[in-house]
Amino acid sequence: MVSSSKPKVLFIAGTGRSGSTLIGSLLGTVRNAVAVGEVRFLWERGLIANQTCGCGEVFMNCEFWKEVLARVEQSVDGFDPERIAATLAKTVRIRRLPGLLYDGADLDVMVRESIYEVYESISAISSNAVIIDSSKLPTYAMLLAEDARIDLKILHVVRDPRASAWSWMRGQRGANSAAELQIVDEQMDRFSPLKSSLLWSLWNTTAKNVFGSGDYQLLRYEDFVERPRETIVNTSRFAGLDVRDEIFTGPDKAILELSHTVAGNPNRLHRGLTRIVSDDEWHSAMPRSSQLLVTAITRPVLRSLGYSTRSAR
Ligand SMILES: [Zn+2]
Repeated sequence: MVSSSKPKVLFIAGTGRSGSTLIGSLLGTVRNAVAVGEVRFLWERGLIANQTCGCGEVFMNCEFWKEVLARVEQSVDGFDPERIAATLAKTVRIRRLPGLLYDGADLDVMVRESIYEVYESISAISSNAVIIDSSKLPTYAMLLAEDARIDLKILHVVRDPRASAWSWMRGQRGANSAAELQIVDEQMDRFSPLKSSLLWSLWNTTAKNVFGSGDYQLLRYEDFVERPRETIVNTSRFAGLDVRDEIFTGPDKAILELSHTVAGNPNRLHRGLTRIVSDDEWHSAMPRSSQLLVTAITRPVLRSLGYSTRSAR
């Protein structure tokens, strides 16, 4: 059955270690929404590297993605995942940002159609559900925004850059099972405070400047952990979703469902009752010199997003 309306995508924009995986999973439990993780990594980490899907299966054994990709392969002439992965890696990198802003992406037809057909196929097999895409990278969102066949809304998630920097410094946590450990192994990235601060400033400024005047909502992670239920209800409404408030069993407790998510941190495998708690370990554990460095680099953007420019101690 071919869906008659445009695929609807709620794109979570921002930077790593900002809580986007959990927010994406929660939104995916709302009726008529489907959380699919970071779709920009579908080719590289999914189809080529065969990493772990949010359902716990390796990608090639996941029935959901098998069905999506069979449809894509059928619809696109010369379908070539390796070429899509290589093109995307090149197109969304920082140095391409000026070109993207002024000239657009200039993708070839096979790549453009494959990306579109992924969203079209997810939409068709999910009864035209709102697709929650946690790809984060604003340059990838710009590629989607160029395609008028996609109905795109941007949820810009920001977190205090000192908390994000600390999370990058201390490494990935939260593995409770073999599948989660596998994900930690697959994603060993660690960023220095300098690198995470520069990326935080650049990508958050880009997300706000490029999308801020359109179909856009800004969400601070700190507001989300303070009022999880209220935040998810408001954001769901922004996404045009029927809110099923009962996914929350209390103001800060929700029931997560199985999802087929590509990439993202190990908590995307969590299901069942989940408590949303604030992680402010950086206040006490992050070296003061690192706090000062991150604050100095991100200062102009911190202010514009409503954060204090004081360090914690
Ligand atoms: Zn799966």
